[in-house]
Amino acid sequence: MPNARLIAGAPVAARVDAETRDLVASGRARGAPPPRVVALSGSSERSVLAYLESLARKAAELGLAFDTSILPEESTGAALARVEALNRDPEITGILVQLPLPDVVDARAVQEAIDPEKDVEGVTPANLGRLALGRPRLAPCTALAVMEAVAESGLPLRGADAVVIGKSEIVGKPIALLLLDRFATVTVCHIATRGLEAIAARADILVSATGKAHLVGREHVKPGALVVDVGYARIPDAPDAAGKPRYRVVGDVRQEEVAPVAAMLTPVPGGVGPITVSMLFRNAAGAALPDWRPRLPVDAR
Ligand code: NAD
Repeated sequence: MPNARLIAGAPVAARVDAETRDLVASGRARGAPPPRVVALSGSSERSVLAYLESLARKAAELGLAFDTSILPEESTGAALARVEALNRDPEITGILVQLPLPDVVDARAVQEAIDPEKDVEGVTPANLGRLALGRPRLAPCTALAVMEAVAESGLPLRGADAVVIGKSEIVGKPIALLLLDRFATVTVCHIATRGLEAIAARADILVSATGKAHLVGREHVKPGALVVDVGYARIPDAPDAAGKPRYRVVGDVRQEEVAPVAAMLTPVPGGVGPITVSMLFRNAAGAALPDWRPRLPVDAR
């Protein structure tokens, strides 16, 4: 049986980046403030800072400014004060919270305090509400990325059976809402779903967003389906020559097992992940333009 076509994230992300550059240029032409994003991080660990530095480099390539601010550790109040100062600062057009925050800080409260017009991750109640009403402005980046991957597949969404595994506020639910808005018939599964396999195996479009490594196998996939793997988990790999433990990144989907069954599949790593990062910057460029709304790629065909 032929293997599924892999939908790689890089070319899709490159197209989103081109759109971001255009938004930045059009803002400049209209005298809008240059986009300037601040990432609030609860950690100054090397790996976190390296990730934020990689975002800063990408931002610079796209024409945006990107700064990292390490949050004071002691309390939610101190973190909220930092958010409020950024909300008031007219030079700051975007704010994001790099999770996790320390246990003593209420991360949801910090996210909710962000001015919705600066909420480049689309996680405030106002932006999630706009999404639920079918009029998104700054929508969660992963959900936007999944829609780009679906568009790339060329599959019509109208009337398609879509199954989303995972119902988190920022990932699973927004994905389900966007698919629903495009007239897919959407079923959302989660940890308490009975008979996951049978439900998933009905899907023309199966999106898995659980973070449970290798949850989805051949038995969950309808022959000819599109499988979008949102999961991201680090699992132990063979130790290196010096015996040091190593890890590798995998998704929710047992890719090798599913590839002969599915028609199309997004890889992990290198699938939804890079598109999500590009969506963050598209949101950041859009946030600096008062009348901007995201282009949603899949028409209600
Ligand atoms: P979460 O832990 O908040 O939610 C996980 C969801 O999966 C829950 O709704 C839970 O009910 C469901 N679930 C867990 N185990 C299940 C099982 N055995 N069967 C059915 N459902 C199950 O996680 P999240 O923030 O929604 O993120 C989900 C995954 O997406 C994680 O791996 C995360 O790293 C990844 N992620 C990827 C990107 C990206 O750009 N690729 C972005 C954000 C998150």
